[in-house]
Amino acid sequence: LTDREQAVLDEIEAEGIDFLRLQFTDILGTVKNVSIPAHQAEKAFTEGIYFDGSSIEGFVRIQESDMRLDPDPDTFAVLPWRSNGEGGSARLICDVVDREGNAFAGGPRQVLKNVLARAEEMGYSVSIGPEPEFFLFEKDEEGNATTDAHDNGGYFDLAPKDLASDIRREIIFTLEEMGFEIEASHHEVARGQHEINFKYDDALTTADNIATFRSVVRAVAEQNDVHATFMPKPIGEINGSGMHSHISLFDEDGENAFADDDDEFNLSETAYQFMGGVLEHAPAFTAVTNPTVNSYKRLVPGYEAPVYIAWSDVNRSALIRVPDAAGVSARFEIRSPDPSCNPYLALAAVIASGLDGIETGADPGDAVREDIYEFDDEKRAEYGIETLPGNLGEAITALEADSVLQEALGPHVSEKFAEAKRQEFSEYKASVSEWETDRYLEKF
Ligand code: GLN
Ligand code: MG
Ligand code: MG
Ligand code: MG
Repeated sequence: LTDREQAVLDEIEAEGIDFLRLQFTDILGTVKNVSIPAHQAEKAFTEGIYFDGSSIEGFVRIQESDMRLDPDPDTFAVLPWRSNGEGGSARLICDVVDREGNAFAGGPRQVLKNVLARAEEMGYSVSIGPEPEFFLFEKDEEGNATTDAHDNGGYFDLAPKDLASDIRREIIFTLEEMGFEIEASHHEVARGQHEINFKYDDALTTADNIATFRSVVRAVAEQNDVHATFMPKPIGEINGSGMHSHISLFDEDGENAFADDDDEFNLSETAYQFMGGVLEHAPAFTAVTNPTVNSYKRLVPGYEAPVYIAWSDVNRSALIRVPDAAGVSARFEIRSPDPSCNPYLALAAVIASGLDGIETGADPGDAVREDIYEFDDEKRAEYGIETLPGNLGEAITALEADSVLQEALGPHVSEKFAEAKRQEFSEYKASVSEWETDRYLEKF
């Protein structure tokens, strides 16, 4: 056992933990877990825990189905909502390995680790600060989720008697107990919509945190008998839920490689090249950062979500916004990802795009300071502004055509991901929505 593993065993003892949940995510980002009695923890560290990989979405075929979970001791956390009174539960996030202990290339956490290893070879560590948004909705008498908002608040509203703000406090306390550093939280623009920002961290920790965050929000909402959803656009005609992500690179001396105080936007050449790579590969990574049919209902003009591939320091219709920050805080915000994504794959895809930009010396062009929502096609063409894919089908086609992303995701994940998403898109295409029957049934 390593020191860190021994420390986890001691903590299990000290906290009176009975059960350990070993967690990992499938290709679509769903958190899977196997529960083991706490006394099996040592064995989990030394030998790993076997499971049947063929029953996990996008993993392996029946013939090669024996896989192992290798718990990462740095991810140990007590689950506060499962640990009241006697006994308790904790979780460990795991890497997926084969019988011989080799990393499984189809594990999303491994995909991100591979991209981060490449960043490290180039001399960088990557920091990400995410801003996930979500809705809290009422349940009906049968306990099923509705789309009735739980409150009537608006952006930054302070509603002291509002149950939703109590739930948000409870979510924050729970996250803090699990070691999160919460930077800010507020009521979002839409009714029933909230945002909680947690402190930036290295990209792998942040991806783990996003997965944990979603489980905590759902668990606390459930306990309060409301439904939390990370569906990107649950209600038409009001804002959807995004997951803006703030990105910066740190060099080997711990200096912010994106900072240059002499630049108008406080950004370095490296930052511009990274941004150039992100803009260049945006059509291709959108399938990963916005992976559902519903994601594309959010990416339309007028709701503070990006549609156009450009960067700006002022307006929020652009894909990338550069906040007014310098020195250690110099960074940019990518605004397209939504919280239905697999956080490991989404961060891997965006980071790989940026690293490619550094390698090729990509140029992001000039900042666009006008509201691009207001541009017509001609003006967009004049500025050379392209648009994000309009639906999941277009997005998969773009992903499949991009060799940088194919390589970053690896052949296993690219293939399984595209296969699952094509299937999802064909089912959607064959379905008929209420909008269509409302519009056409009596007209024709
Ligand atoms: N909800 C908006 C989105 O879809 C963002 C709103 C905001 O954070 N200003 O991205
Ligand atoms: Mg925000
Ligand atoms: Mg927001
Ligand atoms: Mg933001």
